[in-house]
Amino acid sequence: MRGPLEGCCILVSGASIAGPALAYWLHRSGARVTVVEKAPELRPGGQLVDLRGVGRSVVARMGLDERVRAAAEANYGLSFVDGRNRPRGTLRAEDFGGDGPIAEIEILRGELSRVIHEATAADVDYLFGDHIAALEDRSDGVDVTFASGDVRTFDLVVGADGAHSETRRLAMGEDAAHLAHLDTYLAFWTAQNHLGIEDWTYIYSEPGRTMGMRAILDNSRVMAFLSFRGGPPAYDHRDVATQKRIVHARAAGMGWECAQLLAQVDTAPDFWFDSCAQVRLDSWSRGRVALVGDAAYCSSPLTGHGATIALVGAYVLAGELAAGPDDHRAAFERYEERLRRWLVDVHGLAAGQGQMMTPESGSGIALRNNLVRLARYVPGKSLLMRSQMRISNGFELPDYSVSTVPAG
Ligand SMILES: Cc1cc2nc3c(=O)[nH]c(=O)nc-3n(C[C@H](O)[C@H](O)[C@H](O)COP(=O)(O)OP(=O)(O)OC[C@H]3O[C@@H](n4cnc5c(N)ncnc54)[C@H](O)[C@@H]3O)c2cc1C
Repeated sequence: MRGPLEGCCILVSGASIAGPALAYWLHRSGARVTVVEKAPELRPGGQLVDLRGVGRSVVARMGLDERVRAAAEANYGLSFVDGRNRPRGTLRAEDFGGDGPIAEIEILRGELSRVIHEATAADVDYLFGDHIAALEDRSDGVDVTFASGDVRTFDLVVGADGAHSETRRLAMGEDAAHLAHLDTYLAFWTAQNHLGIEDWTYIYSEPGRTMGMRAILDNSRVMAFLSFRGGPPAYDHRDVATQKRIVHARAAGMGWECAQLLAQVDTAPDFWFDSCAQVRLDSWSRGRVALVGDAAYCSSPLTGHGATIALVGAYVLAGELAAGPDDHRAAFERYEERLRRWLVDVHGLAAGQGQMMTPESGSGIALRNNLVRLARYVPGKSLLMRSQMRISNGFELPDYSVSTVPAG
């Protein structure tokens, strides 16, 4: 494909949301793109992602609106319940007209990843089951040694490999300095819909821990989740067996339907667990290596904006490279300048969310449930959501259409 980045070879590390989205836009500007993903195949799993505001606009500009809507999940509301499954506070999507806590488009993270991967698979070279073992950034290119032993040279390398980015570590140094922990942990896994829930979410809290289930996949399954409070992690983030042990230990003895959900942790095909943390970096690039999505500015699941900022970041990074193809340094600077202020606001959305989801006392749980119960009776309640919507829409997408070749 011809375009301003014709002849430019770019390696992207990570094939979740940011990586395939970046590959999509780079290809549309003529670049030859390789995406390397550590997992042997596209990873399933993860919660329902809210698509709203500017993230939805990027999906529309990618021409994927219909495909995303076709893969989206119906979700009409959520109830905080007591140990006997009696609702103690309920929010309905209709109460907020699709712009409230329940967004108009909600899609499983794994499904969104699949849709973007499918849209790029014919034009982008995907390498699954491999990863970058070493990088040498020279003045005219980056020599990359893959774990498989291959050695190749690329003009640019972009890390889209998540909050624990290995690309970031290789290019910029050790991880720990860049992660700000938010004292909340989250686990998600697919489980049987043993209560026959229809398009609804149930959430049950005990002091310091919350478990829930949300009907997915035409109500054939639920996405179960556990949230608990705790200080900085003392385990290896790659050690899934230990993560499962932690989940069992922290949820042991919980009432409601928790034992049933917990019993499925070990066999779930898509268990995911992480501490909620934000990535804060002084710079999102070094030399010929840049970062995008969670690798650069993870806002944590508590903001509900992880997929949105990954999509927007990918769009802007590719757009700026295409707008100035002869000067990647200037393009990386413009990418940062454009996004930084908005991302500070997005990061701010995490404040208080851990306590709201998982109050630390019985009275905190009762207060949260009462607030939820009353919220729908507040006149002009949509105003309550206005500041969140201002942030969701708080970035104006630049127009890069002159440097983008129409999608084939
Ligand atoms: C399986 C999975 C489940 C998730 N579940 C949730 C969830 O339930 N709630 C939530 O808020 N967020 C979840 N996330 C994170 C969420 O997807 C991101 O916050 C957001 O969508 C931004 O995406 P990203 O592409 O920047 O990063 P991520 O979605 O984290 O994707 C990073 C990708 O890079 C790959 N990768 C990691 N290391 C390497 C390496 N060294 N080399 C090559 N590839 C590598 C990973 O396998 C992954 O595919 C999940 C992520 C994954 C991968």
